[in-house]
Amino acid sequence: MSDKKFIGAHVSATGGLNKAIIRAHALQATAFAMFTKNPRQWKAAALTQNTIESFRATCAEYHYTKEQILPHNSYLINLSHPIKDEFEKSLAAFIDEMHRCEQLGLSLLNFHPGCHLQQINEYTSLTRIAESINVALEKTTSITAVIENTAGQGSHMGFSFEQLAEIIRQIDDKNRIGVCIDTCHAFAAGYDLRTEQSCVATFNDFADTIGFKYLRGLHLNDAQRSCGSRVDRHQSLGEGKIGYTAFAWIMADKRFDGIPIILETINPALWSQEIAWLKTMAASLDTTTTK
Ligand SMILES: [Zn+2]
Ligand SMILES: [Zn+2]
Repeated sequence: MSDKKFIGAHVSATGGLNKAIIRAHALQATAFAMFTKNPRQWKAAALTQNTIESFRATCAEYHYTKEQILPHNSYLINLSHPIKDEFEKSLAAFIDEMHRCEQLGLSLLNFHPGCHLQQINEYTSLTRIAESINVALEKTTSITAVIENTAGQGSHMGFSFEQLAEIIRQIDDKNRIGVCIDTCHAFAAGYDLRTEQSCVATFNDFADTIGFKYLRGLHLNDAQRSCGSRVDRHQSLGEGKIGYTAFAWIMADKRFDGIPIILETINPALWSQEIAWLKTMAASLDTTTTK
């Protein structure tokens, strides 16, 4: 059994942050994602010393290190908001999320880059996102900002590898910037993953345009809609338009070792089975064609 792949799901933190750890453990997950506050509310009470210490102790007890945990920020945050007040509210909330992760002893924060709402052009939008990240990184010390690729729905930015690369290019501290690739989003944005050949082509494109050194997480989701649909609808592994091949292929490739690999598939009742299957695939030989 490969212990180099960290595999888990985005678990609920309802009832307290420690519950997320216990839920991940119950799934026999070796990674997990969670929200550190309610993702649909702007405000959250500050973390108490008790919560912080207890979270750190529970992580240690269940053997989860910061490399295996991928916290996700609030859905409300839009680092490309065209309206000044709304933008500032988003940036403040983003910095607060980074502080919370830092307090909890974590090292990553996964977020969606933002949307321009048809009011600013794409390049200005990417610059606004990069500047926000620069400000947030300056105000924190140990968190890596992990940008997630999007399906390109509506005016969401970050759906192409080129856009993610452009944001990274504008980041001052390259050691604290990374990306999380969501397979459903990539597929919806037009990156084919249905066959081993298409997986090789897509991730060769990723390697050339962004580079694996920036890959800090994966979201493994099958997709309900076809390649290039620009619609963000997740599906359980193997039950969507991507199919099992891509997920087996990823599990057999060493370039995906050592990062949190997180399910956001639509049926939590299947997560323990999906995790077990992925672990089996990870244990198979590394058969991948790398460049
Ligand atoms: Zn995702
Ligand atoms: Zn999604």
